[in-house]
Amino acid sequence: MALIVQKYGGTSVGDLEKIRAVARRVIRTQDQGNQMVVVLSAMAGRTDGLIQMAHEIAREPDARELDVLMSTGEQVSVALFSMAVGDMGRRARSLLGFQVGIHTNDLYGKAKIQDIETDRIRRELEKGRIVAVAGFQGLDRKGDITTLGRGGSDTTAVALAAALDADVCEIFTDVEGVYTTDPDICPKARKMDRISYEEMLEMASLGAKILEIRSVEFAMKFNVPIHVRSTFTEEKGTMVVPETNDMERVVVSGVAYSKNEARVTVKKVPDRPGIAARIFEPVFESGIVVDMIVQNTSEKGLTDLTFTVPKPDFLKTMKLVSEVAEQISAESVLGDEDIAKVSIIGVGMRTHAGVARRMFQALASENINIMMISTSEIKVSCVIEEKYTELAVRVLHETFGLDKDPRDET
Ligand code: ADP
Ligand code: ASP
Ligand code: MG
Repeated sequence: MALIVQKYGGTSVGDLEKIRAVARRVIRTQDQGNQMVVVLSAMAGRTDGLIQMAHEIAREPDARELDVLMSTGEQVSVALFSMAVGDMGRRARSLLGFQVGIHTNDLYGKAKIQDIETDRIRRELEKGRIVAVAGFQGLDRKGDITTLGRGGSDTTAVALAAALDADVCEIFTDVEGVYTTDPDICPKARKMDRISYEEMLEMASLGAKILEIRSVEFAMKFNVPIHVRSTFTEEKGTMVVPETNDMERVVVSGVAYSKNEARVTVKKVPDRPGIAARIFEPVFESGIVVDMIVQNTSEKGLTDLTFTVPKPDFLKTMKLVSEVAEQISAESVLGDEDIAKVSIIGVGMRTHAGVARRMFQALASENINIMMISTSEIKVSCVIEEKYTELAVRVLHETFGLDKDPRDET
């Protein structure tokens, strides 16, 4: 008997009829002789709605209370799902994060899973029940509710699959799998049959929201095979698996983009030891994640320092950095929220030269100005004006031959 963890995202449980359809699908898989653990997201739009209410009632909602509020979305889904299963004459049990024993640290809104108890789930499974676990939530040492960050139900599912040593973790969503780029903005995007953990990790961290980044980290660390597939069809989706030798044949496997960053420039900073540390210290202290950093060569002992931060942290960063800028007599601090980051990803870059050059040429051919660049072994990212995002994604998709199925080439 196999143990399968299935996760259904917000659109998949978007209304009561869809929840019923999910219940039928889960029952069918159980009937094939499998033990079923089902992780559910909040119904589409719920989490956003809850966050909006929080911001209507308070200017700066308390982080602990915001987690108490946000976690209710998933509670609704697991209860309704279990009722639907019951109504179909079968048995399901809903469990919230704290009932399972999903232990996290106490970083509200972006808590990390530290440990998962499996006794309760196993007891329920042994009774023949389908276990419905609320995604996205856990409890901290004090016994308070935490949430794992947006998209965190993916992480709940993969972490549970690892803890339970499940045979597979299936992520059901509103597209057929992992595509060469977001099919929403590039009609020529192609579904991949498989992708390596490393590439998936880069794609996720560079903005492809198909899988939440920590879920991929978990999968890679504990070797959990992930199958990303559609809730609405029976088609096979994409397997996220360890890298194999043949994967390097493809130079670029995917294109990702993110509109979730903003750029901060500190103008005319005195160029001396300790200055970067001074500027970034308060930013790091606040838990803000700085992504790209560029420092210009200095002229007359002064330099410009530019970096990017997540958009939701932009205003806070501007405030913190402006304070330091004054103390160190920098000229000014400029901010720009209308930027986007486009990236190409592929393990094949390790063995193929000239990839960055082709990317720059492709963007130049569309008159798209590159503001910042960063590279790693398997990716190249460029910051551009936000309004060119879709165009940039499409031109890169075409330039690297992603429109065509690589298996057609011999
Ligand atoms: P869920 O609610 O099921 O978790 P998400 O909205 O979080 O679903 O993720 C699925 C969406 O991710 C798709 O609808 C698609 O628009 C987007 N997406 C972005 N990049 C990709 C990609 N490379 N492949 C597939 N989908 C992608
Ligand atoms: N409901 C949460 C969100 O919208 C978690 C998830 O759907 O994965 O971010
Ligand atoms: Mg998601």
